[in-house]
Amino acid sequence: MRKIQMVDLGGQYQEIKEQINTSITEILETSSFINGPAVHAFQKDLEDYLGVKHVIPCANGTDALQIAMMGLGLQPGDEVITADFTFAATVEVIALLRLTPVLVDVDAETFNIDIEAVKKAITPKTKAIVPVHLFGQCADMDAILTLAEEHNLYVIEDNAQAIGAKYLSKNGNKSMAGSMGHVGATSFFPSKNLGAYGDGGAIFTNDDDLAHTLRGMVNHGMYERYHHDVVGVNSRLDSIQAAVLRVKLPKLDQYCDARRASARKYSRALANQPNIIVPKTVNGCEGICDTCDCHVFHQYTLRITNGKRDGLVKHLQEKDIPCGVYYPIPLHKQKAYLDERYKEEDFSVTNQLVKEVVSLPMHTELDDEQISYITETVIGFVNG
Ligand SMILES: *Cc1c(COP(=O)(O)O)cnc(C)c1O
Repeated sequence: MRKIQMVDLGGQYQEIKEQINTSITEILETSSFINGPAVHAFQKDLEDYLGVKHVIPCANGTDALQIAMMGLGLQPGDEVITADFTFAATVEVIALLRLTPVLVDVDAETFNIDIEAVKKAITPKTKAIVPVHLFGQCADMDAILTLAEEHNLYVIEDNAQAIGAKYLSKNGNKSMAGSMGHVGATSFFPSKNLGAYGDGGAIFTNDDDLAHTLRGMVNHGMYERYHHDVVGVNSRLDSIQAAVLRVKLPKLDQYCDARRASARKYSRALANQPNIIVPKTVNGCEGICDTCDCHVFHQYTLRITNGKRDGLVKHLQEKDIPCGVYYPIPLHKQKAYLDERYKEEDFSVTNQLVKEVVSLPMHTELDDEQISYITETVIGFVNG
């Protein structure tokens, strides 16, 4: 059996080596390292793929979120609601801009922001909701967009983990993750589903005015060379990363399919086991669905409900099976984001999940032998 990896970027590179090398060499030969033709071409390719009017490439996913909030004109003191169970970048940029983060609990089945908790958190100061499409599946966007409209709030989708995922609305429309809110943000961190070979990110929107604002903001607030109309930042996608992403974008659907196929195999083996809860797919794809294109499984995350999670992590490591705990500490308990307004009883799900979750190896190169070995090892320990 091949050595199991959490993320197999090397194996994936071997499959696309020639195209990648040619694409990068082109940048080296032309020396257009910043804002070169490759960046514009990738921007266009991604606009077409997502079906959005504007893609604004930038330096990373954290910047994408920050610049999205700057572009919407959010002001210090404005309250921004987001999930307690996510990577810290989401709340970090809210705090950095001196906006007021309002963390709320998530849904135990989908790991995504809990709509009832969002409703409870809305105040006259609330200006935006940031749903995070955690682990590759969209949050309940129908409900979020309805709430946003009722309360006149912006919706900023944190799509760092769900690029390529689809969302089936109640009205029957299927939309790409990241394209439904006022603005979407994604990351091309190497281990993300569409990963560069370094840092990268992008902002998406269908709003022409906002797109114009954002394009200047990523480049020092310049709309005309050396005219600085607004306070901006320096956040650019470099051409070498764009060259890599241009090769990988046409393969993204195929990569998502490979992840889903592995997720299905995991779930078939683990779904009927006591003490193990497999990830649930929703949005029109209930259960383990063979035709599902809603979940892109950035992570395949189990809940271990008999208190053996920490033991399992150790056991898997001993068996040469890498795994991850995303995330071990709720954001509301992180020193940087403590807030006396938070009450523990409002975070019962996150407080539970951090003790139960474990993510198994997930990438585009997993084979059946590896998956069987992983699932047998998990079952053997949890229910042995
Ligand atoms: C990775 C990630 C980010 C940040 O992306 P970077 O490119 O690493 O800055 C933001 N939000 C979520 C949910 C992420 O997973």
